Amino acid sequence: MNKNIITKICVNCEKNHPIQDFIRKASNKRGVYCSRICISCFLEKDRELHKKSRILNLSLFLYKKCKLRAIKKNIEFSIKIEDIIIPEYCPILNIKLEGNTKCVKDNSPSVDRIDNNIGYRGDNIKIISFRANTIKNNGSYEEHMKVIEYMKKAKCLKLKSNNNNFNKTVFQELLYHARGRAKKYNLPINIYYEDIIIPKNCPVFGIELERSVGHFSDCSPTLDRIVPELGYVKENIMIISHKANTIKHGGTIEEHEKICEYIKNNLGLSI
Ligand SMILES: [Zn+2]
Repeated sequence: MNKNIITKICVNCEKNHPIQDFIRKASNKRGVYCSRICISCFLEKDRELHKKSRILNLSLFLYKKCKLRAIKKNIEFSIKIEDIIIPEYCPILNIKLEGNTKCVKDNSPSVDRIDNNIGYRGDNIKIISFRANTIKNNGSYEEHMKVIEYMKKAKCLKLKSNNNNFNKTVFQELLYHARGRAKKYNLPINIYYEDIIIPKNCPVFGIELERSVGHFSDCSPTLDRIVPELGYVKENIMIISHKANTIKHGGTIEEHEKICEYIKNNLGLSI
């Protein structure tokens, strides 16, 4: 046997490797001390550890964000970092979640409080995509269902009578904001004051529309693009309440349906 070839058994893969395949830790008169596992096993473990720490950091990041939100909103916060389990895919929109991006994207993991009336409690949170979370917003099952209903019939709604409670300034503001958003998102716009009809009640939720000065309230009239990407063109606009617009939030019928399905399943609603 050639005594120059020294081998060692790796405790991880249990294979016999030449000593060069081990990490040299120290050497003295009595010999050379090497790592217990071979280099390839070491690298494999290192990769796993790195992956784990990234996931752990992301969980910690989300955990801290929730804590701040809970303080700000004065709601229950009793979750542990271990409760933040990040799945591979968004349970609502089924898009692959990606955590290691510099800025928040549609597929960034985000913490959802399934029931918006309950705080951050272990059994009330789930990680969903940022997009699903912004569309879900604080809407309930019924509210999302109403949004779907509205979106399906919106094009056929013919509103003729204008709400007299609103003066010219309101129309000007609505048009001003629409022009700003059209420019920002590069959307077509061809509407004028006379195209804007403010109904008495919100076509989505039925709540009476009211003017609030200086800020938006749930009942403030807002301009909705029925199909967001079609822009502010006559047939595609409708005045709905601010509350309805925040819950609609540019989501498609399909997305709202998926959100309803998710709320129903996770809250155990029998509908
Ligand atoms: Zn090994």
